[in-house]
Amino acid sequence: MSGGITKISPQMMIAELTNWNIEINSPYNDGWTVQHYQKQLDEMIAYFDRLKMTDEEKDFEDEKSKWVCQECNKPTFETDFDYLVSPTMHLGCQLQMEKEVDEILEDNA
Ligand SMILES: [Zn+2]
Repeated sequence: MSGGITKISPQMMIAELTNWNIEINSPYNDGWTVQHYQKQLDEMIAYFDRLKMTDEEKDFEDEKSKWVCQECNKPTFETDFDYLVSPTMHLGCQLQMEKEVDEILEDNA
């Protein structure tokens, strides 16, 4: 074989992922170790999920990832329109900001 294209076989990747899953579920591992392997596995699953997506689904996910509140950094995508000033600002966060600005202005008056 003249230096095959595939560097790691699917069987080897599956074996590695299986090992991670065993580490995650082992009662002998401490929290840090479990978290370490879980993080790796989650990363792989997210990657596979993305591979399976159509271009349309990827565009949707990319758009969705931009819907984050500038003030609290939480996602706004699932928030009802009535509670948003914009895709990047919760109504509650905007009001809180304005209240804080008013308080500063009052203190300096
Ligand atoms: Zn917010």
